[in-house]
Amino acid sequence: MIIFLKQGISFQDEKKFRSFLVERKVEVISVERKKQKLLVVIGRFGELTKREINSSPYVESILEVDRPYKLASKSAKQGPTLIKINGLTIGNKEIIYMAGPCSVESKSQIRVTAKKIKESGCQILRGGAFKPRTAPYDFQGLGKIGLHFLREAAREFSLKVITEVMDVRDVELVEKYTDIFQVGTRNMQNYPLLRELGKARKTVLLKRGMWATYKELLLASEYILVGGNENVILCERGIRTHVPETRFTLDLNAVPYLKHETHLPVIVDPSHGTGRANLVRAMSRAAIAAGCDGLLIEAHLDPRKSLSDADQAISTEELTKLVKECKLIAKAVGRQ
Ligand code: PEP
Ligand code: MN
Repeated sequence: MIIFLKQGISFQDEKKFRSFLVERKVEVISVERKKQKLLVVIGRFGELTKREINSSPYVESILEVDRPYKLASKSAKQGPTLIKINGLTIGNKEIIYMAGPCSVESKSQIRVTAKKIKESGCQILRGGAFKPRTAPYDFQGLGKIGLHFLREAAREFSLKVITEVMDVRDVELVEKYTDIFQVGTRNMQNYPLLRELGKARKTVLLKRGMWATYKELLLASEYILVGGNENVILCERGIRTHVPETRFTLDLNAVPYLKHETHLPVIVDPSHGTGRANLVRAMSRAAIAAGCDGLLIEAHLDPRKSLSDADQAISTEELTKLVKECKLIAKAVGRQ
């Protein structure tokens, strides 16, 4: 159950209500949202207590949720979560295209890429400055200067920014440069990081762990939501299967499943989901048809020379074709 407290409730009244709950042995976790305070109830209690809670003068309303992910669950909210970033809305009718290189490699690379991304019709520029590489000997990203190049390029071409944060200690730094924090597949269950991002007010795109079930993904998002940050986007990016021909298997079942379970926007990453550049366009079209709210795509000026994930990077020319085709599919499924 979720208890929505009366708007503007005083500290004293909240304390009184919390003591009442303690007396009745009702355990809660408090969630401080920008506009409202709420309490998420842990465990069960009787009908009498429920009625008492509902009639308390400190309570606006109560909501029964029959899912373990209470705040992410569809029943926790009326309508979809619409994420607004300076004039751009994610989760509405418009399909969002986020594209750019796997890694920010240089000032000129990201600047020219930003220009091409914009011309292709994308709204958000991606690029990693802190890279989660399998080997410590591989290119690890440019760090802070990379963030700076990314933001400058996005500003020049009026694009929003998404970039990965891997470490709790970098949240404050990355927040200065990005519009959206990306949490990578390897960090989906990095609970200290998720809790820290729950305290941030910027949007978080949470990638599904390559091993994770839908329930685990939704419960991971709950860690951010319970911190009071309502702006969470889920991302399907492929899972490990027995198929050796692709790097991962893009699990498009996730899209309608998650859309049925949660009010949060759902994005698909067909680049990591396939690991092969020649599959990205087709899987992008399929993702839109399946009902996702947007795509996250790796595009590079010279894909084969990409310093990371070269096999899956598409050219910016290919990206232009991709967006054009996806717009047709979007229209066919009632999106823009
Ligand atoms: C990326 O987007 O470049 C990335 C590392 O993604 P993932 O965490 O899905 O592997
Ligand atoms: Mn990558």
